[in-house]
Amino acid sequence: MGRPIRIHETETIVSLPPLSTACLSCGHTARVAYHTQRRVTTLQGHFRLALTVRRCHQESCPRHHQPYRPEEEGRWALPYGEYGLDVIALVGMLRYRQHHSLAELHQALCDRGISIGERTVLNLLARYEELVSIHLADQERLHSIFSQQKHAILAIDGLRPDVGHEVLWVLRDSISGEILLARPLLSECEDDLIALLTEVQAALPVPIQGVISDGQHSIRKAVASALPEVPHQLCHFHYLREAAKPVYEADRHAKKELKKQVRGVRPIERAVEKRTDDEAAIICQYCLAVRSTLTDDGYPPLSAPGLKLYERLMLIVASLERVAQKGASRQNWNACSIW
Ligand SMILES: [Zn+2]
Repeated sequence: MGRPIRIHETETIVSLPPLSTACLSCGHTARVAYHTQRRVTTLQGHFRLALTVRRCHQESCPRHHQPYRPEEEGRWALPYGEYGLDVIALVGMLRYRQHHSLAELHQALCDRGISIGERTVLNLLARYEELVSIHLADQERLHSIFSQQKHAILAIDGLRPDVGHEVLWVLRDSISGEILLARPLLSECEDDLIALLTEVQAALPVPIQGVISDGQHSIRKAVASALPEVPHQLCHFHYLREAAKPVYEADRHAKKELKKQVRGVRPIERAVEKRTDDEAAIICQYCLAVRSTLTDDGYPPLSAPGLKLYERLMLIVASLERVAQKGASRQNWNACSIW
């Protein structure tokens, strides 16, 4: 998933592509069918989700022509929901743990900067009640979800609207997008999660082929223990964010050290600025090349500025060596271009 881009104070665009380019059911290429977007208000602010939707074109595939939407969409909000799952979790927690009245619920959301009507608060409360009453024992429902699937890909999210309060655990099937189980728990310890995973695994009529999560330690340990054979993938956004931290630090350090070695461009430029011969012109060009290299930047971690600086300095060094071998004439300089 893409880096969130803040376009103005109130709305952040997040682009969500499906995690795979292949159909999750048959494995053939699922081509991009269309792009769409939806707005979601969470406790973190207003977001516009830019979604890429793929479709499988294999006629023999059980999911032929059915939309393959981004796996991560379901961790933001319920289908067609305008408010995030975290807002629903908060409403449920305030109502059932802290016994807020409707007016108090409304006020609590307004206090958090969410402009919402009382009637919508009531709808969110109804959504919460529906969520937690989803029953794994409802075999008819499970059968209708999995009649066209040979396996499930389990996504697990823990929504904690307030520090120190209960967590609403939501387990869904990423292929169909259906929620399988939602349960508020006061803890997020490994044993509780193992119990949830085992419960879902036992109820499903199809095997679990993979697990997707944000990679919290308790989830990782619980998945390894309850589903030891099942691959566990971090959601791309969280994976990149975690991977970016050490990469960013190492790259920043490398860039600082490299810059130390190419100080003193200005004195060289000064020393040759009154000369008009070829050698002076070439030196000025190299100084310019070093300057432009130092001001170039990138966006870590995917385009690391330190690595980019290193690559460009190496090209300058290689070009200098070629010129040194051939002699400093304008003709040779032209033949030894840097990049
Ligand atoms: Zn397919």
